[in-house]
Amino acid sequence: MNSTILHKYAIPWLLLGCSILLNVVLLATRHAASPTAKATATAVAPAPAAVVAEKPAADIAASEWKTIRTPLKSSPAQSFAAASPDDGDPVSQAYARLFMFDVDLRHDLSTGDQMDVAYRMDEEGKPEIGTARLAVKKKGKTFKAYRWTAPGDKFASYWSDEGTELPLQLKTGPLHEYQQITSLLKDRPTHKGMDFKTPTGTEVHVPFAAVVTRTNWNWGANGNCVEVQYPDGVLAKFLHLSDNKVKVGDKVAADQVIALSGNTGHSTAPHLHYQLNRGEEVLDPIDYHGTIRRKLDDAALAQFKPVQAKLDALLADRTAGL
Ligand SMILES: [Zn+2]
Repeated sequence: MNSTILHKYAIPWLLLGCSILLNVVLLATRHAASPTAKATATAVAPAPAAVVAEKPAADIAASEWKTIRTPLKSSPAQSFAAASPDDGDPVSQAYARLFMFDVDLRHDLSTGDQMDVAYRMDEEGKPEIGTARLAVKKKGKTFKAYRWTAPGDKFASYWSDEGTELPLQLKTGPLHEYQQITSLLKDRPTHKGMDFKTPTGTEVHVPFAAVVTRTNWNWGANGNCVEVQYPDGVLAKFLHLSDNKVKVGDKVAADQVIALSGNTGHSTAPHLHYQLNRGEEVLDPIDYHGTIRRKLDDAALAQFKPVQAKLDALLADRTAGL
């Protein structure tokens, strides 16, 4: 190598080197500047020990599943709609709910983040996600979700590949069992509570000792509803009920059943709307109650792993040919 060649090639390489260095510095700075995970208290609670048969793994037949795999373009909704004009919208909504506790979909994502999902249609024609992945460059992590009914649970939930439940639970919530938290307070400024998808007739428990202050006001919007006052003065509202078990002035004990959930008033599907007010201020139940995040114990994890492998195969099959 003579000095002319060295000179000819050295400058472009030097420039490239500087460019890479600059990018690394920029990326590191952006990463450091990204908001840290919300300081939500997460305690690890073991999954219940009772053994209930999970859907047999054979139920995960490859034929009925569809997949959408897309890099993020302008927004998750737009990307899913472009990848699947038929199913993109509903799949996008279901997908967003899986990761909403870990990822702020408005601020944590960047163009090119990879989104993968395997889903099938349930009896109501809504997408039921079997497994999903979200690679978030800003967090340097790929989040994975697997649908599974843990031993002792009534409903399926979503678990990470490490056996941690993705949805947080309120430490003392109004429902012992429900299908899914479908809406958080922070989702929409016009929506003032937290929504729990649960079948009509689910027992609603008052989280703390309280006094019943109102029932069935503004029936057209709220449907059957109950309002109670907690000892600290906070008012808790339970809306869209099918049946009320209390009347104004009743003193109710913590965990007492005060109503049954329903689909009354302005409600398009069976769910419980749970809302907290301190004066004019609307409180976030996540902050007010605190949360727990369950983790499977070894015995439950052993049952989960074969299901996880089958669900992984739904996405692996589609990549094989690419
Ligand atoms: Zn609601």
